[in-house]
Amino acid sequence: MGFYMNEVPWSKEGFAEEKQFLSSVIKGAISESGWQTLDYRPNRSRIVPLLEKLDDMLKQVQITYVDEHNYAEWKEIFRESFPDGYPICRGHHALMSEWGCVVCHDS
Ligand SMILES: [Zn+2]
Repeated sequence: MGFYMNEVPWSKEGFAEEKQFLSSVIKGAISESGWQTLDYRPNRSRIVPLLEKLDDMLKQVQITYVDEHNYAEWKEIFRESFPDGYPICRGHHALMSEWGCVVCHDS
């Protein structure tokens, strides 16, 4: 799986806070926050270097890279499967994506 940082649904107005939030999520994942909720045990030696690289990539993202049309276009393409609002899995209190709960995979 791969993506470009400008595919993240940044907003120009909230960019600084969004970037700070994403950085805190990455740092939380590195410190194993929430790992006990997962239905598998991540391979720490494999995943931590990738998370650190992601954090390095995040530090490079500048507000000038933000194109708010990217997210609107992507949301339109996946309109049928895209959830409205911010649905939360009742079992895990995890934000659902268009593929369901990222923790239990709707099992
Ligand atoms: Zn769940």
